[in-house]
Amino acid sequence: MKTHALAQTQFLSAQDVATLVAKMGLAAALDRMADYIYADFLRWTDFDKCARVASHSAEGVIELMPVADAKTYAFKYVNGHPKNHLVGLPTVMAFGVLADVDTGVPELLSELTLTTALRTAAMSAVAARTLARPSSKRMALIGNGAQSEFQALAFHYLLGIEEIRLFDTDRAATDKLIANLQHTTLRLIPCASIAEAVRGADIVTTVTADKTNAAILTPELIEPGMHINGVGGDCPGKTELHPGVLLGASVFVEYEPQTRIEGDLQHLPADFAVTELWQVLRGKAPGRTTESQVTVFDSVGFALEDYSALRFVRDVAKELGLGQLLSLIPALPNPKDLFSLVRPALSAASPRQANADAVPLEELVHAA
Ligand code: NAD
Repeated sequence: MKTHALAQTQFLSAQDVATLVAKMGLAAALDRMADYIYADFLRWTDFDKCARVASHSAEGVIELMPVADAKTYAFKYVNGHPKNHLVGLPTVMAFGVLADVDTGVPELLSELTLTTALRTAAMSAVAARTLARPSSKRMALIGNGAQSEFQALAFHYLLGIEEIRLFDTDRAATDKLIANLQHTTLRLIPCASIAEAVRGADIVTTVTADKTNAAILTPELIEPGMHINGVGGDCPGKTELHPGVLLGASVFVEYEPQTRIEGDLQHLPADFAVTELWQVLRGKAPGRTTESQVTVFDSVGFALEDYSALRFVRDVAKELGLGQLLSLIPALPNPKDLFSLVRPALSAASPRQANADAVPLEELVHAA
């Protein structure tokens, strides 16, 4: 075992990750993130997995997402509070850790708010590469908030989507997306309704936030051959797809035990068959088999994607010399002598000073 006289933790701030993306370029960042996710999904059986631990409240949820292989442990802290924009905060905020399994040393502490948007978009693209028709050129994007530009660009760069039809109940969100992506070659078309946006689309991405069982997509909107990338339904009581949409489709998920609780799948009986995506990527189960098949990726976000995302930012930050070292763990010449950290404080105070505020023993006896 290696010795760790001084265990330091690499720290990446939100600005570090923004700089990393600016230096790499967004297309390359999404592409390499997708490679990391794909590589880890091929190693699916190497990982110790569990559904995330969720703490629900009236306005949202806070979740912990752990996963580990024999070498590296990872967790993400993430929330989902759809009304946060009313107080000037994002709906989704996150950070995470990579730790060494042999010693437990936290080797990386990173922001994951921006990184989650990149990883979720890259994950959607990894799924769509195998589930959408290869000829897909037109996508509908329902929900134009914080995640939406990343979804649009992942599908543009990694799948060749050329036209995106947009709808959000908040027109200002759609205008923000159009302004943000005005320098790309994407054709961006604002629509007056979900039905107008979805008509004729090869791929439909739903990425809305509302703490309710919404029916963003209903069966009559679905056309043969569509691929549905359902991203926003990711919590008990927070869904986007009418159950009839799932019943008429082949449904693919990340980690089935978690999706049964959190995904749009929560509305269907426990024996409704779904396929975990890793099986398709490994060639153990079919993805799309016909042109007319409707496929659904019922995405909720799984810890392994954050393990991949943390590996990605750690490796690229190292290549680019970004971040700083934190002394999160105390440096101890003798690891059994943790008290050495506070010993100077104790010897600095004289016994008389230390006892100055103490209540005399006789008073305590009388009070009793
Ligand atoms: P956001 O609050 O920034 O944006 C959500 C947008 O949805 C808002 O602009 C809102 O006006 C719009 N909206 C709400 N209800 C709508 C409706 N009925 N029709 C059309 N638009 C509607 O949130 P965000 O950060 O973009 O996240 C979006 C969703 O994605 C959240 O529910 C979040 O929990 C989820 N999410 C999932 C994953 C995953 O891995 N699956 C990862 C990150 C976020």
